Amino acid sequence: MNFYDKISASVQCAILGDAMGVPVESETTSDGSLCSVKNMLGYGRFDQPEGTWSDDSSMILCTMDSLIQGYDLEHLGKTFCRWLFESYWTANGLVFDSGLTTFVALDRIRTENYSARSSGCIGEDDNGNGSLMRIIPAALYFYTDPVPAFLDKIHQISAITHAHSRSLIGCGIYSLLIKELLLNENKSEALRSAIDKALEYYGSGSLFKNELPHYMRILSFELLSCEAADIHSSGYIVDTLEAAIWSFMKFDTTLNVLASSINLGRDTDTSGTAAGGIAGLQYGLSDIPTEWLDSLARKKEVEMLINKFAHAIPQA
Ligand SMILES: [Mg+2]
Repeated sequence: MNFYDKISASVQCAILGDAMGVPVESETTSDGSLCSVKNMLGYGRFDQPEGTWSDDSSMILCTMDSLIQGYDLEHLGKTFCRWLFESYWTANGLVFDSGLTTFVALDRIRTENYSARSSGCIGEDDNGNGSLMRIIPAALYFYTDPVPAFLDKIHQISAITHAHSRSLIGCGIYSLLIKELLLNENKSEALRSAIDKALEYYGSGSLFKNELPHYMRILSFELLSCEAADIHSSGYIVDTLEAAIWSFMKFDTTLNVLASSINLGRDTDTSGTAAGGIAGLQYGLSDIPTEWLDSLARKKEVEMLINKFAHAIPQA
């Protein structure tokens, strides 16, 4: 795959993972029927037709829409507000599945004129996966930046809604993996390098150091020897990151990574989004049935936005 194909496959698979996960979100893994998600489904949890993607994809599309015009944090915050309060970049005009932390932060921008630099929530309870779900375009856009500058921007973008250091680290580890995958086609080497860089950066200052133990299963590689039953895949950022990395490292095709992450259950759409972003980057779209991609809401407009975005990414 050339660079543009990789970017396109990454974003498309993230959106596909979201749409595949939407009908079965919040089911438990003990529900036997869930373990048979092998196709695009419709309706279910949110009663939406097949191919309907949710808040995860809307915020990914808003991020690309804003970054195409250059990096401007305030513009990005306002673009997120257009999604939440005006249905901008929704699948079919309806905002659904948005999280409380995201709502509180964006409402501060809308009604209290907060800057996007101070709008994010900082409580320990504000460590849901709401910024991890949308960070893919930022990681792709800044991938040529040196690690400290790269992580600074990832943190700023997470912190528009999710400003607790645990959320910043989760987005940072995931984004470092994306950055490394663009530079190294061997996924094991890319993961090792991303973890080395995360440990070096986050291990040095007290702000982040105390939060690192929450990511220890990833940082110690213990995660890779876990069984599916040990992967929780809830709406907690650490669980979602574990579900995505575990599925990505365990399977060697885009389809199997997507199926794995969604069949872990619970916050299926966000696990699917996070796993899909890295699977598409690594393995592309070739094993995805065309009719699945064709079923995605606003397919043509989304493809045009992705194409514009891919060409706007600064090159070294
Ligand atoms: Mg969602």
